Amino acid sequence: MNSGCLFCKIAAKQIPAKMIYEDADVFAFEDIGPQAPTHILICPRKHFSSLNEAAPEDQAVLGKMQLVAAELARKNNLLRGYRTVINSGVGAGQSVFHLHLHLLGGREFAWPPG
Ligand code: 5GP
Ligand code: ZN
Repeated sequence: MNSGCLFCKIAAKQIPAKMIYEDADVFAFEDIGPQAPTHILICPRKHFSSLNEAAPEDQAVLGKMQLVAAELARKNNLLRGYRTVINSGVGAGQSVFHLHLHLLGGREFAWPPG
């Protein structure tokens, strides 16, 4: 745990969040500022500032984040489609520096993204 990290504090239940899914490797909770009817953040328990800090030994947890996203999409009936996004770095819009995968669904999405 990184003691200064918001999402590490959410994982440790030091800051409240609407937790959707938890296991030994990942946790997922509702985004506080939803950008779609479904907006869930899926995080590794291990603290990474961003995808740039992930190493080959982290391959399994990175894959698990994707599989949890697909499972949560099914559970939320996102039948028409959904989007998974990782913002890496301020230039891409990253604002919380604990790696997280956004799962967005329940509306139409444009491409290219803004
Ligand atoms: P980023 O901009 O880093 O890709 O995404 C960070 C996300 O975290 C944003 O969508 C923002 O709404 C969400 N967020 C920021 N602070 C909190 C918080 O305290 N609780 C929850 N549940 N979400 C947060
Ligand atoms: Zn963290």
